[in-house]
Amino acid sequence: MKVLVINSGSSSIKFQLLDMADETVLASGLVERIGEPVSLVKCAMHPGRDGEVLLKREMQIEDHQSGMHQAVELLTDEQRGVVRSRIDIGAIGHRVVHGGEDFHQPTMIDAAVVAAIEKNIPLAPLHNPANLDGIHVALGLFPGIAQVAVFDTAFHQTIPPRAHIYALPYELYERYRIRRYGFHGTSHKYVAGECARLLDKPLSACNLITIHLGNGCSMTAIENGRSIDTTLGMTPLEGLVMGTRSGDIDPALLVFLHRNAGLGIEEIDRLLNTESGLKGICGHNDMRDIHAAIADGDRRAALALDIQTYRNRKYIGAFMAVLGRVDSLVFTAGIGENDAVVRSRSVEGLECFGIQIDPQRNQQRIDGPLRISSQLSSIAVWVIPTNEELAIARETIGVVEAGNNKEMKRR
Ligand code: ADP
Repeated sequence: MKVLVINSGSSSIKFQLLDMADETVLASGLVERIGEPVSLVKCAMHPGRDGEVLLKREMQIEDHQSGMHQAVELLTDEQRGVVRSRIDIGAIGHRVVHGGEDFHQPTMIDAAVVAAIEKNIPLAPLHNPANLDGIHVALGLFPGIAQVAVFDTAFHQTIPPRAHIYALPYELYERYRIRRYGFHGTSHKYVAGECARLLDKPLSACNLITIHLGNGCSMTAIENGRSIDTTLGMTPLEGLVMGTRSGDIDPALLVFLHRNAGLGIEEIDRLLNTESGLKGICGHNDMRDIHAAIADGDRRAALALDIQTYRNRKYIGAFMAVLGRVDSLVFTAGIGENDAVVRSRSVEGLECFGIQIDPQRNQQRIDGPLRISSQLSSIAVWVIPTNEELAIARETIGVVEAGNNKEMKRR
């Protein structure tokens, strides 16, 4: 079956078409700057393989509807397209950021599911409406084709109350559903599954700490294959130090900033989400720029690296205490997959807990999963590239097949 994965943002649509018979990527594309005077549509057919073709168009794209139209035109292009027509697409998987407490797993989209995603807009006011735009357009363009919503939050719905309820008046949870939801769930679940395969154990028997370090960063404690705690919270701001987001801070700082620096609520929101983290400390949010700055003697850049890796180490320790037994630590995403320095500094001094990295293995180029722990390490440390599109496609197939099985039983 061919599965189209759609990640619809406020001004962009990322899409990937996969042939799930062998999990190859048939096409991978992006429509960006939707609504601006000049938009861009890019699509690579057969990316990374012989016969790769890159198609690019600059044009005005007013909305998601015409953006998606362009994407479909490229995919079905007579000469260079990868499918003959829309009906060759067997199912569509949509990335949805916030499923609130309504979704514990990926779910076939119908009117009730759309309504529930809408209901959760206050929890993700920037993301859910954009995700919904993609869903509405795809429902119109692909009538009769199964469409599945895959939620960033769903994997973390197994986190127990002691780890998801904040120590605030309980009525706030009851009234506004203020609690920890966690994010990056698709990525954490995917690398956990890959790690279990590499350890040759069922996921349901694995205790893991998965560490997603990209622009956004989060760490998850996984017990017997289920998320039991994670660092991101009600919003994607809590926990680790990120590219431009602060992670953990004293919440009273917000009041202090308001009272003493005269900042309003919008300014504080912007400060915490876009002007903090690595960027706030040293002016750079890309780890490659930080290393370059450190090489030039920039002490703030060195401090930013020190603060981020210290926070990582602190949470690894916390999650080891939460889990007791840990089979493996898994690094993933842009920084986690590419930055040997961040990885080694994040586990520095943890030898006494059975974590030891092999410096040579840690320096190797990553083009697939790699174990970087030494023979002496009782806890395996892995680098496992994440693949959210493949994860969404697999989840989509899972939902479609479960639906088909149910249908067969009913008959
Ligand atoms: P996103 O959260 O947007 O999906 P990614 O997982 O792609 O982000 O991670 C992007 C980040 O990864 C960049 O901001 C950069 O800091 C980091 N990164 C990418 N390549 C490298 C590299 N070779 N070395 C160090 N860091 C890298």
